[in-house]
Amino acid sequence: MIEGPFQGGCLCGAIRYQVSGPALQTSYCHCEDCRKASGAPAVAWTFFKTGTLTWLRGSPKVVNFAGRERSFCGDCGTPLVFFDPSIPELFETNTCTLDNPASHAPSDHCWVADEIPWASKLAELPRYELSSPPPLP
Ligand SMILES: [Zn+2]
Ligand SMILES: [Zn+2]
Repeated sequence: MIEGPFQGGCLCGAIRYQVSGPALQTSYCHCEDCRKASGAPAVAWTFFKTGTLTWLRGSPKVVNFAGRERSFCGDCGTPLVFFDPSIPELFETNTCTLDNPASHAPSDHCWVADEIPWASKLAELPRYELSSPPPLP
């Protein structure tokens, strides 16, 4: 558990938020819904108590899919907040939209039943400080 407050926002800056904290847990989710909603192989989500979030600038669009609410920036598309009404005490922010995501290391992988097969092999790949060499013809 990490005491707050924390601030975050989307890529384009239209949406800014604050969570009074504390941050309860961060999980690395491999579910197909998170993959589709983010366009990424997995998403780190940080859990907070419901009622601790304030939108500081702008207001997100909300899509209700499979009974769960996903908030995102309507201008740049950044996924921001996840809320599952069957667990009303908690919500999750997309960890990498927090201003300091490095301090919210995931403590588990969840929904590995949906995991894309190569996701567990990413740590073995070559690493480049900046761009990888482009695959030019
Ligand atoms: Zn945005
Ligand atoms: Zn998920």
